[in-house]
Amino acid sequence: MARPMTPDQWLKALRAEGVTDIVEMPGWRTNNRNHKGPFSDVHATMIHHTAGEGTGLPSYCFNGNAALPGPICHDFLARSGRLYLVGNGRANHAGTVARNAYDAVRNERSHHPAPDAAEPVDGNAVSYGLECENNGQPSRTWPAKQYDVAVRVQAARCRFHGWSADSVWAHKEATRRKPVDPRLPMDQFRRDVAERLAHPASWDPNDKPSKPTTPSNPTTPPKETDVPLSNDDVKKIWTTDGVLKAPSTAAKGNTHWTADSYVRDIHARLRAVQGTLDATNATIRAMAEALAARDAAVDVDALVARIETAIKGISVRLETES
Ligand SMILES: [Zn+2]
Repeated sequence: MARPMTPDQWLKALRAEGVTDIVEMPGWRTNNRNHKGPFSDVHATMIHHTAGEGTGLPSYCFNGNAALPGPICHDFLARSGRLYLVGNGRANHAGTVARNAYDAVRNERSHHPAPDAAEPVDGNAVSYGLECENNGQPSRTWPAKQYDVAVRVQAARCRFHGWSADSVWAHKEATRRKPVDPRLPMDQFRRDVAERLAHPASWDPNDKPSKPTTPSNPTTPPKETDVPLSNDDVKKIWTTDGVLKAPSTAAKGNTHWTADSYVRDIHARLRAVQGTLDATNATIRAMAEALAARDAAVDVDALVARIETAIKGISVRLETES
């Protein structure tokens, strides 16, 4: 179970991911359709195009129309790269979706199948939605800035929840009703999200790796962070470690790993693990609160403390046994 982010958590995650041009639309924190259905257990984040362009889109996304009441997404990304925060909670962006498409994102499979015709899943209950300004014409490209922010937005959600990039899906992958929504090569888009997730949130793809510096004093040893690692080194480390899967770029014969980029990669993985732990702790508290709501005799803090102590006990045992 993954509890949706609070508005403050979302703002913090966006800024950490380098999204700076943000407009908080008045009322976005409480703009939702929670009265129409659930939005309490999320497993995916969807990307859409608006199929139209213009300055009226932020307010359209916020309000929707009679046939499709708003919010019709969580965020709206203009072609300029400016991100509008539109809603928090259930939004009218996905509609019903195919079971096979949802299973793929929920289980973070690398293969995202063409969606079945039947749509038994309530997509609005389980997925965040990002709308991007693009008219959907085959010749209409995405400005580099807009594409970069779209990658950052989806990476920020995945990072927060500890998800992989395979939790990102397009509307066209979820339903046959939207065959070109959006016209993005989604496998490439997910690779770009995955690359972000392999770095700390502050990573900028335009940053070039630092060049080894020649020390002015020849007795000074070279900086350790500039030591290049061969693919064999990388392979050896991961085989020895055997716990985490090897970096995807290493598998493709990437020869640019250095000790520095390697540490950054490990750091990003640790952050993802920490995100999962935080979510688990929040879940324990939510369960305790739910129990307390039914039974006044339940002391939430005491119950949470007991569960956390029990988990710590297990971790300590595992450490001493390994
Ligand atoms: Zn859509």
